[in-house]
Amino acid sequence: AKDSGRSRFEYYTPDMDAEREERHRLEIDLRIAIERQELNVVYQPVVSAQDGRIVGVEALARWNRRGYGAVSPDVFIPIAETSGLIDQLGLFVLHRACETVKRWPGLKLSVNISPGQFRDPAFPQNVACVLRQTEASPAEITLEMTEGYFIQNADRAKTSMAELRRLGVHIALDDFGAGFSSVGYLRQFGFDRMKIDKSLIHALDQERSAVDLLHATVALARSLDIPVTAEGVETDAQVLQLRLTGCDQLQGYLFGQPMSADDIDSVFRRDERR
Ligand code: C2E
Ligand code: CA
Ligand code: CA
Ligand code: CA
Repeated sequence: AKDSGRSRFEYYTPDMDAEREERHRLEIDLRIAIERQELNVVYQPVVSAQDGRIVGVEALARWNRRGYGAVSPDVFIPIAETSGLIDQLGLFVLHRACETVKRWPGLKLSVNISPGQFRDPAFPQNVACVLRQTEASPAEITLEMTEGYFIQNADRAKTSMAELRRLGVHIALDDFGAGFSSVGYLRQFGFDRMKIDKSLIHALDQERSAVDLLHATVALARSLDIPVTAEGVETDAQVLQLRLTGCDQLQGYLFGQPMSADDIDSVFRRDERR
């Protein structure tokens, strides 16, 4: 208690200012990078749980900051969200990814959507616009969203979801099991797919109770007719458990890291021949 009292006095330190300044510089550089379309999109294979063949890809944004090198999405996505850049960033990724998947007939595409994008009433129209421009087929596209927005803005979220559905795109609930996931909203929103968070998958190797939790989670989704993808799959032992539960799609370093479109080309051709 004594320590926490002291740290309160130390709250405003030169370090804090330096941190804020660095964040400000990051924001400026990110804005420039987005405007110049310098962000990259990489693709991680999503495979069938049955035979390990590629069935789709998840698009993930990458930023190589000039003079510094790679910045993690866990750093620049939150910055984009708080500085009004996320709409532009998100549409860039969607556009690039929709254009790129045409190289791989039959593969599904997943793209991450931030709450800030979803909140924008123009979002469904913007998606429609990208679909038109890229001539991508909406049925092949899934937008991944995390639960926070749905819990906090249920009514608005339902409206946006209905509009997106009308376009023909699918909506997946991302990171399930990472937060305070509740059964109630899982039912009321009718997601097309659920993605189990990698923290739950990684726990399989550590805690006995994680196996039960995994089975219960997948059983819940199946009882609602929601197909399940497991993310962050790294070991054969995890695959074994996931097959037992009835997950139909797997994603993780075991099957492939996020990679360039050219590298997905090779995976695609390899699995076509199998
Ligand atoms: P996410 O949507 O949950 O994406 C999965 C993250 O797990 C990715 O991190 C991926 O590289 C990583 N991953 C995949 N397989 C494994 C594995 O086997 N083990 C481990 N430890 N990690 C694995 P990444 O690319 O760093 O992205 C982090 C987060 O940033 C994403 O989490 C997503 O929430 C966000 N993000 C990335 N790109 C975009 C984007 O274009 N738009 C938005 N709104 N968010 C994005
Ligand atoms: Ca995701
Ligand atoms: Ca996740
Ligand atoms: Ca996430």
